[in-house]
Amino acid sequence: MLSVPKDLRSFLEQVIREMPGQIKVVPHEVDPRFGCTGLAERFARRNEYPALYFEKVKGSEIPLIINLTATPERLALALGSTIEDVVRTYGERLAERIPPIWVAREEAPVKEVIWTGEQVDLGKLPFLWHNAQDGGPYITSGVGIVRDPESGAINAGVYRHQVYGRDEIGVWFIDTHHGAYIYRANEAAGRPTPIVIAIGHHPALIMGAVSRIPGIGGELEAAGALLGEPVRLVEAETCDLPVPADAEIVLEGEVLPYQRREEGPFGEWPGHYMAGGPKPIIKIKAITMRRDAIYYDIFSANREHLVLGALPRMGSIYRAVKQVVPGVKAVHVPAHSRMHCYISIRKERDAEVKKAAFAALNTEPENLKLVVVVDDDINVFNDGEVMWAIGTRFDAARDLLVIPDWSGPGGLLPTGWEYHEDGTRTPKMVSAMILDATKPAPPVPYPERARVPEEAVDAADLSDVYDMRELPVRRGQE
Ligand code: MN
Repeated sequence: MLSVPKDLRSFLEQVIREMPGQIKVVPHEVDPRFGCTGLAERFARRNEYPALYFEKVKGSEIPLIINLTATPERLALALGSTIEDVVRTYGERLAERIPPIWVAREEAPVKEVIWTGEQVDLGKLPFLWHNAQDGGPYITSGVGIVRDPESGAINAGVYRHQVYGRDEIGVWFIDTHHGAYIYRANEAAGRPTPIVIAIGHHPALIMGAVSRIPGIGGELEAAGALLGEPVRLVEAETCDLPVPADAEIVLEGEVLPYQRREEGPFGEWPGHYMAGGPKPIIKIKAITMRRDAIYYDIFSANREHLVLGALPRMGSIYRAVKQVVPGVKAVHVPAHSRMHCYISIRKERDAEVKKAAFAALNTEPENLKLVVVVDDDINVFNDGEVMWAIGTRFDAARDLLVIPDWSGPGGLLPTGWEYHEDGTRTPKMVSAMILDATKPAPPVPYPERARVPEEAVDAADLSDVYDMRELPVRRGQE
């Protein structure tokens, strides 16, 4: 029996089955200009983050889903794991990469509809305006695939794309990302950079694409490892790049050399608008999709952006820390603030704290500004416990390490820029800090954490406990 490849639909079915009520259907027509994100925000104000499936987005015949991976629980489900275990699962899966496989065009759902030449019209797709001051509609979920002209390696990453017109979008490659190296190499030789952009697939494809993998390439292998099966590829229509065969929609195009267009502003993951300045443009040469394609959007500068972005980073950090500190217990990059990282370790030597922290910083040089290292009795998934450890095991004069000008300059964090009164900005370096909130290494004794005996907690009987509604009447003492 042929098994069904994992894709966006298989994941939607899994959520419907295993987490009923977490995908809501919006049957009425909604405006792509702030309508979809406005509805999502209404739920967010109640601290609810269901996935939202919009049947009718004004101006398009293609339905749209947003917030699919806005909760850590659903993201963990995508890897067949749980919140507590998902970082370890991710780290272990990435250790065993699974190379992609090629399939014939007839077996590729993304080839059911093919628009080339005059048929190319981005206006038919339901691109969203997300936040109030965004410079236009943006593609937020595209997995961009390019080829390194030197090694031939295929690299994948997620970049932000402003939509400019019927066949033109922008792209901002962050300078240190591999896409930028490849684009600069091609531009220096006067060549365009062919690119394919896959929209809508199993969340593992995006997680693989944003995983921190040393060297150019390897993301599709990482995605395969996270999927637990090879990513199926098929050839593109207009270039020699591979296309994910089970994607919902694929854009094919070229990043043009020497051409720039003013980009942004756009609400970015740190929760601020960030103008791009002059950025490269992509000419779209073909659009292919499933007959009944679903457009997949990630809610930028919002919970989904953070949750989805944090897990691959936690997994990469966990793996990097594990190599230098085998006693690492857990790593948490909190969804509310992806610039922070909490690491718990079973500490054997004092030097392990800095080794762990620098491994984390080196894995995420552009994003992390604060690493807190705690002992293994602290639950790093609970901010309160981490703050408690800082309050009781950290001394600012001794245990704080500031690393001036650690990363940058520039980037997506507002702190990567110097802002001037005349409205201009110049890039600047960003500093980082490490907080050692661990107890001294053995054999030095340290006060024990006060706790009720675990047996007493287990033995406690809650079965007949009830709500007090009035002062109980007590019989007086005789
Ligand atoms: Mn790469």
